[in-house]
Amino acid sequence: MTDLPGRRLLLVHAHPDDESINNGATMAKYAAEGAHVTLVTCTLGEEGEVIPPGLAHLAADRDNTLGAHRMGELAAAMKELGVTDHRFLGGPGCYRDSGMMGAPQNAVPTSFWQADLDEAAASLVEVIREVRPQVLVTYDPDGGYGHPDHIKAHRVAMRAADLAAEPAFRRDLGDPYDIAKIYWNCVPMSVVEAGFARLREAGREGDLFPGVASPQDVPGVVPDDEVTAAVDTAAYAPRKAAAMRAHATQIAVDGPFFALSNDLGQPLFPTEYYKLVRGRAGAAGREDDLFAGVDA
Ligand SMILES: [Zn+2]
Repeated sequence: MTDLPGRRLLLVHAHPDDESINNGATMAKYAAEGAHVTLVTCTLGEEGEVIPPGLAHLAADRDNTLGAHRMGELAAAMKELGVTDHRFLGGPGCYRDSGMMGAPQNAVPTSFWQADLDEAAASLVEVIREVRPQVLVTYDPDGGYGHPDHIKAHRVAMRAADLAAEPAFRRDLGDPYDIAKIYWNCVPMSVVEAGFARLREAGREGDLFPGVASPQDVPGVVPDDEVTAAVDTAAYAPRKAAAMRAHATQIAVDGPFFALSNDLGQPLFPTEYYKLVRGRAGAAGREDDLFAGVDA
């Protein structure tokens, strides 16, 4: 496709809301700078818990209509981030949310956890060969915190990156394409600790949330020296907060903090961090641009 912008970024996430929590500011920044930003979400997040009491009836064990509702939340979040290319892996509802690790929903045949890896990866190969991203962002092998859909999203993204470059693989899905750089989401330990210190300080002044999470609750925390890129996205922090707010069934935002359905406060990180796991770094120290060293 010759009409695509020079810089193209692909993000692969498990549920609606993960993109805003992990990469919202990065997505807003690159979209604002004219890059083509593509989000692929693997499930509709049907098994999520619902925060607002007025919407509790949407939950899987009641009306079971949360998936459709979260599609609307995701669309609203993408509007806040200025991202127009958003897709669900295999189409909306193709793979169902698998629930937390060990939950009976893990065994549901249509769950993402049960999906055939290469079949799911083939759907992503088609996207990769169409938008030809120089940069792919996904989770680490543990999915950041061990959720089966996050682990599976990691596996599908990495497998699809390999298959997309394979000349012999499914030429009906497009011409082979090799992604130049692959990053995993992460957060440096020192930043997490400073964030929680700010949260505890603020908590003394007013009751923000019923409780405070711990650094272990933050997905993808790594020792500082494992972080290879820090994208200065402070200017886009308000957009990130607005996108997170759009996921109202899942996230309660309060100033620079937020809570998930467990009601435990966490710091909202305005700078987003990454670990380069494939491709060449474009800077000697920490990169400040995911496209560094990539010829647009
Ligand atoms: Zn998730």
